[in-house]
Amino acid sequence: MTPCESPPLSRVDLVADHSHSHAHVHVPARTVLTAAALTSAAAAAEVLGSWRSGSLFLTADAVHLMAHLGIFIVLLIPTTRSHEQREDFAAVAVLVLVTLIAVGILIDAIQKLLSTATEAPSPAFMLLALLGLTANLATAYLFRDPAATRWSFRAALAHELADATVTIIALGGAVAIALFAWRWVDPALTLVVGVWLVVWAGRLLRRRALIGSRAWVLEKE
Ligand SMILES: [Zn+2]
Repeated sequence: MTPCESPPLSRVDLVADHSHSHAHVHVPARTVLTAAALTSAAAAAEVLGSWRSGSLFLTADAVHLMAHLGIFIVLLIPTTRSHEQREDFAAVAVLVLVTLIAVGILIDAIQKLLSTATEAPSPAFMLLALLGLTANLATAYLFRDPAATRWSFRAALAHELADATVTIIALGGAVAIALFAWRWVDPALTLVVGVWLVVWAGRLLRRRALIGSRAWVLEKE
């Protein structure tokens, strides 16, 4: 395979040059929307599964997948100079939202870990996490091209791969529940999700605080 040469001016670029706006559109909206559709479907299935099974992990994973929709919205914002402030504001808003969701997940997980009334969920329903895993891996695959040139997509791709890892650990947890009916596994997995999200959002917010709005566009030019 030969590496792709950088293409000549695309139709989008030519159209943009005729228009007054200096649009330089490289964000593949269809890619982001496909990833969003897969993610929404997985989240919906997990919400239903969490109701039936009582799995806190499935609830946390579903809520977390919905937070991805916020990330996808940020990726859809055109990257013209005039839109950078909007992209920056949206990115910070999503990260703050993810942090709040993560804190909620952590509180729920700790309460369930400490509660003696906690019962192990039906592990079979936790297989629904496979849908989340599929959405994570499909999104990572779809983002591999834009991730080569855009830092925001690279961050999103890395996040999806880390999510996939957490989900694989959770599937191991479901096996443990099936074998040993351990009560603490489901809230412990939930705790892992909460900690991972706090670390991820915290690191990006710290990057934003340290280097300003350039945090999102370093590799854009
Ligand atoms: Zn995630």
